[in-house]
Amino acid sequence: MLCPECGSSIHRSHARGFKENLVRAITSYRAYRCRECGWRGWMARNRSAVRTAAWKNLLHTVIGFLATLLILIVALYLIGL
Ligand SMILES: [Zn+2]
Repeated sequence: MLCPECGSSIHRSHARGFKENLVRAITSYRAYRCRECGWRGWMARNRSAVRTAAWKNLLHTVIGFLATLLILIVALYLIGL
């Protein structure tokens, strides 16, 4: 991770207080601090991209399953006729 202000490497900062811990718990954002210029802020971890990909995979699986189910229902309906 690089500092958006000065470009030097930043390190994880401890979340301060309840609000920051809550943000840390429910989002993929983490508090970071720069030793060079004192910048402190929140940045998304790379893991969020992985999580998004996992959701897309799940969505594709569900859509695929529903499509198969629909075809099966139509096939059974046609056989029934
Ligand atoms: Zn900096």
